[in-house]
Amino acid sequence: MKFKYCPLCGDELEQKYSYDEGGVPYCKKDDKMFFDTPRPCIVVGVIKNDEILLLKQSYIFKDSKVLISGYVGQNESAEETVYREVLEETGIKVKNISYIGSDYVKDKDLLMLTFIAIYKEGEIIKSDEVEHVEWCKIDCALAQMKEDLVGTKAVSKIMEILKNDIN
Ligand SMILES: [Zn+2]
Repeated sequence: MKFKYCPLCGDELEQKYSYDEGGVPYCKKDDKMFFDTPRPCIVVGVIKNDEILLLKQSYIFKDSKVLISGYVGQNESAEETVYREVLEETGIKVKNISYIGSDYVKDKDLLMLTFIAIYKEGEIIKSDEVEHVEWCKIDCALAQMKEDLVGTKAVSKIMEILKNDIN
C-alpha cells in the first residue's frame, strides 16, 4: 500500500528523507512516517501422509484448485493466521506450522508468506465461503492447480521438502 494521505488525520503526506529508505511519505502534524507496505498474506499446504488439502474457489480460478490462503489480521502472527484460516475454511486443526519462503505478488500488492503445516485432527467441515475442500494426493496436486502460480510454486517447494525429509 502506497500512502498519499495521512491515515490518521487525512492531510496530504510529504516526502521525508529517511537515511536508509530514501523518501518516505510523512505527516508533519502526527510526526509519523507511513512506509509503503504490501499486505501480508499466508498460503499454506496442509499435509496428511501423502495428501494435501486443496480448495476449489471458482471466483479466484475457474479451473484450478488452490491452497488455503488468507490475510494476516491485526494483532496476529503469520503462524496464528495459518492455524485460524485452515480451521475456519476447512474445520481441520494443524500442527508443526513452518515457514518456507515468500513471494511478492505485484498486481495485488501482496507479500505471500508460504507455510507447510501437518494435519493434527478433525474432519473436513467446509466453510460457507468455500466452494469445495478435499484431500488430494500430493503427486497429483500440481496438475490440478495450473492457474494458481503462487500455489504451484508453494506445492513444488513442499514436495521438495518432503522428499528431503524422507531421504
Ligand atoms: Zn496526520
